[in-house]
Amino acid sequence: MCEFCHKHGEGKKWYLEAKNYSDDLLSDLNRSKFIEQFFSHVPSAGDLSRAEEKLENSPPLIRGIVKRLALRKQKKVHYGQVLPVEDVERILEFVNSVVRISCICRYLNLGKEKRYCYGISLSPDGGKFGELLRNVAANPSAPPAFKHSEKLSKEEAIAAFRSHEHEGLCHTVWTFNTPFIGGLCNCDRSDCLAMRYTVTHDFPMMFRAEYVGAVDPDLCSGCRECMRVCQFGAISYSPSDKKTRIDAKHCYGCGVCRALCKKDAIRLVDRMSVPFAAKRW
Ligand code: SF4
Ligand code: SF4
Repeated sequence: MCEFCHKHGEGKKWYLEAKNYSDDLLSDLNRSKFIEQFFSHVPSAGDLSRAEEKLENSPPLIRGIVKRLALRKQKKVHYGQVLPVEDVERILEFVNSVVRISCICRYLNLGKEKRYCYGISLSPDGGKFGELLRNVAANPSAPPAFKHSEKLSKEEAIAAFRSHEHEGLCHTVWTFNTPFIGGLCNCDRSDCLAMRYTVTHDFPMMFRAEYVGAVDPDLCSGCRECMRVCQFGAISYSPSDKKTRIDAKHCYGCGVCRALCKKDAIRLVDRMSVPFAAKRW
């Protein structure tokens, strides 16, 4: 179990605890203020690339210190975890409002509106979280990407996530001033900041999933489709037996490779049962 499961899930998966989505948590004024600021003060694409360049060019000692401090702060305010699609569906079963909005990372990186992010709430009308987001969107200086939201039924949301998975996108769940959970996203490492920092810069912004992928060699045909979609470089191909293998040390347990495998050769197993992966979050 990841650290948040122990702290915020009473030893079970923290993102399946309804209390972490409740409006009660939003009665904390610091949290409401954090959410308003988070969505109102979006950095520019230039600021982001300068920050990334600075990080890459900093000496290892400085980088290590910045990383430790940033990690501690991120876990308190805005941290994520990779989820396989069935856990996304379990969340969608108990929330009562799903609103699709544009992804701010892609808006900043590509200058285009791509609707890959979902605001979720236990209240049918989006509750206090929905109200906060509507207030941000009503502000004339809000980024255009936040202006248009669409309400989805549970069935539409589930179909959308399945379709994102077939695009090779990795599902993630996000806190807004931990442990309040308000969003589900569909990330890729080229355009999503949190994933790019986590994977490319080794600067974690999210936990790995509670699972790890495993290939059944008896079913694998060696087509290598799974390698093409793994965003974490966890799959290798062996020319000697013409099969692929998943390296548990690098696997994030997203399950995207499984969705693309026509031979049904990949399954997800409990991370805690795999020695090389059990302590890697
Ligand atoms: S997609 Fe499936 S069949 Fe193809 S190489 Fe990967 S595990 Fe094997
Ligand atoms: S090998 Fe692991 S990280 Fe890569 S796509 Fe499969 S489940 Fe995700």
